[in-house]
Amino acid sequence: MPQCIREKEDMKITICSRIDHLKDTLLDIARYIYDNPEPSFQEHRAVAILTKHLAEVGFHISRPIAGLETAYAARLDCGSEGPTVAMLSQYDAIEGVGHVCGHHLIASGALGAAMALSTLADELCGTILQIGCPAEEGGGGKVIMVDGGAFDDIDATLMFHPYDRTVVMNTYHAQQSLEFTFHGKAAHAGGAPEEGINALDGVLSTFNAINALREHVPSDIRMHGIVTNGGQAFNVVPELAACKFGLRASTIDGLNDVVDKVQNIAKGAALQTGTKVVIEKGAAYYNMVNNRRLGEILQGNLERLDVHVDAFEEESTASTDYGNVSYVVPSVYPTFDIGAFPHSEDFQRASISPEGLATMILAGKALAMTVIDLLFDGESVEAIGSEFRRSVAGES
Ligand SMILES: [Zn+2]
Ligand SMILES: [Zn+2]
Repeated sequence: MPQCIREKEDMKITICSRIDHLKDTLLDIARYIYDNPEPSFQEHRAVAILTKHLAEVGFHISRPIAGLETAYAARLDCGSEGPTVAMLSQYDAIEGVGHVCGHHLIASGALGAAMALSTLADELCGTILQIGCPAEEGGGGKVIMVDGGAFDDIDATLMFHPYDRTVVMNTYHAQQSLEFTFHGKAAHAGGAPEEGINALDGVLSTFNAINALREHVPSDIRMHGIVTNGGQAFNVVPELAACKFGLRASTIDGLNDVVDKVQNIAKGAALQTGTKVVIEKGAAYYNMVNNRRLGEILQGNLERLDVHVDAFEEESTASTDYGNVSYVVPSVYPTFDIGAFPHSEDFQRASISPEGLATMILAGKALAMTVIDLLFDGESVEAIGSEFRRSVAGES
């Protein structure tokens, strides 16, 4: 084995033992974030404890990022120049429900990797970033951060998510919400209905036309809607009615196509019913484009850690704002099996169990080992970058 390869493998053994040393601290932080659930954009306690520990080991903390108070970038320059690699984290909970998505594990795992890497920074080249991202569950924190340039000049990003399977590359779907508010004219529903304009009819026509559209869209398209306002009283012609749809597709182009069609449906429903419609578009979550070369490097480290991998690549019809990051920086999004699917009581229990917390430690090791691969020599970063440029150009 060449000398440099052996040195790199030795560093990986060292990084794993450093993370093991940090175990009690990381478990305490994971439990603290779990016990203090904070909804999107209000993750102040989580950010305070994470940045405190990062600053203590020498990271320079920048915040707010892109105007977001609960976003941060922790930066540590290594011994010599080289690539910039970012481990991302998220730490928001769901309002009124708590940590049902395991983001306390994502945050503490990335923190552990960053803290351990700080002890080897003198022997690596480049820059280590740990970027904290708010509001994944609602609000699209990473979408705002991408638009604000938070991921400019970065060569690769990594983030993991606890899940019911261990998969190296999860390809999530693009998603956008559309809210339609129809305005009509109130009238006595029994006495003078001819004087009214029924806003609820706009909503019903929209649902009917979307149901007709289902037959004529590709099979990856999802269109799921709810009525958020169906009128105020049955004996008054509704002057206001509203509905909200979530639209998903396997690609951002496919999503944009269906978003156009559904908007036209709502405009058509307004014309048909004599109502006026106001359309509000949510932030577009792009589909997740995983970098295959980066995935292969990560998979090699999972093998070294004896992690059972269920699949190298898997398609999910769920969505994440990490997709937007994957369009501007080469990225990989692995999941780690903790025995249950997110947003369930079983998952919540698993995420705070000894086994779930041990998986967080394991994931932190896999991230840190992969960062060593990227910062030890520039070669793999070159390959990752050229694959990314090809995929952005639509050639792969
Ligand atoms: Zn979630
Ligand atoms: Zn999640």
